[in-house]
Amino acid sequence: MSDEDIKQRRRCKCCNKMYDYAVQNSHATRFFCEDCTDLPEPIRKVLATFNKRLVEIEEKIKPPQKPAAKN
Ligand SMILES: [Zn+2]
Repeated sequence: MSDEDIKQRRRCKCCNKMYDYAVQNSHATRFFCEDCTDLPEPIRKVLATFNKRLVEIEEKIKPPQKPAAKN
């Protein structure tokens, strides 16, 4: 019952998926979702690098959030 309280929503460093952390019987860790935790470490490292770049690229192609500027 009190386990519910410590659950948190986290984003996986490998696949960018949202997952609940500290779920019973789940392998998920603080940084990786259950799927990625089972991967070998070198593969996780590569995926984390790719994911980081994807997040950066997404930030760049997002239209800038200007506060209603007049032209
Ligand atoms: Zn993952």
